[in-house]
Amino acid sequence: MNIDINKLLRENIRNLKPYSSARDEFSGDAAVFLDANENPFNAPWNRYPDPHQRVLKTKVGEIKNIPVQKIFLGNGSDEPIDLLFRAFCEPGKDNVVSINPTYGMYRVAADTNNIAVNLVSLNANFELDTVAVLAAVTPDTKLIFLCSPNNPTGNALDKSGMLQIINNFQGLVVVDEAYIDFCPEKSLLPDVDKYPNLVILQTFSKAWGMAGLRLGMAFASEHIIEVLSRIKYPYNLNIMTQQKGLELLADDHLKSEWVETILKEREKMVSNLVKYPFVVKVFPTDANFVLVQMHDPRGIYNYLVEEKIIVRDRSAIALCEGCLRISVGSPEENASLMEAFDQLI
Ligand SMILES: *Cc1c(COP(=O)(O)O)cnc(C)c1O
Repeated sequence: MNIDINKLLRENIRNLKPYSSARDEFSGDAAVFLDANENPFNAPWNRYPDPHQRVLKTKVGEIKNIPVQKIFLGNGSDEPIDLLFRAFCEPGKDNVVSINPTYGMYRVAADTNNIAVNLVSLNANFELDTVAVLAAVTPDTKLIFLCSPNNPTGNALDKSGMLQIINNFQGLVVVDEAYIDFCPEKSLLPDVDKYPNLVILQTFSKAWGMAGLRLGMAFASEHIIEVLSRIKYPYNLNIMTQQKGLELLADDHLKSEWVETILKEREKMVSNLVKYPFVVKVFPTDANFVLVQMHDPRGIYNYLVEEKIIVRDRSAIALCEGCLRISVGSPEENASLMEAFDQLI
């Protein structure tokens, strides 16, 4: 499919000349840096970080098996989500299409940028209705947001349905894969090369255990990545995030062990949960959380708070009536949850 990214861009962004930092204009090795008005004392915190995150990006490229030109690194996934709106959606005019229910940040970013969201409901099994998604597109639709595995429902979306949308839409399709490390075979990342309108979001906040560092990724064609890089804050990733991130990425067998443990714990949690009389249904999940429908979800939620256990009440969300969303914790944490539930029967 042919897609003209330049034509999709907002005119002001197309014409934007980015801020050029001292570290852009000279990035080689030198002994004396007197170019950025930094304080010469208090090393290493006195220096601005690499605005292009070269070292960290190279490492991410190795791990994800993708060239650095197709990688954007941001302050969590939230940053590329907001930047996509700012680059492609004209406030007060353009719109985006999103599935419902899904992750709340797309709506917040849309509202912040004064962009309408056309919601398309998933079906009762939380599956994608590709025909309805494409039917919700108008001439002003610039982005379609899909989330797979989806939050808060937990299920991965059907690959062929997503590809059908990507193939039949003249704007960008953003597929948020925040939970993909828990079901890597369902990733669309290998398809980024084939589809110039596909943007994949991933994060180090979940399987990699770095939510506090704020490190998110976007993968897309070189042209889209260049645009996001042009409009980001020059120093969007601080020194600590870049250094600590690199250090943690060096050891990726830790992440594999965590994922393995979490998946085992998830299966245990699911088989325990279905035994409780107050549990109506445990929905199938591809992520590190389960959506559980209960009799009296609010009562259960409040009881757990008293027991000092916090879960997420999703019972007011469309299609999630009666549901709590429970993250899979450590074996000890999950045991505490089950002990608390045991006291209810
Ligand atoms: C947790 C989550 C993220 C991660 O956001 P970060 O800003 O990278 O921490 C992104 N998308 C979804 C759907 C999530 O649930």
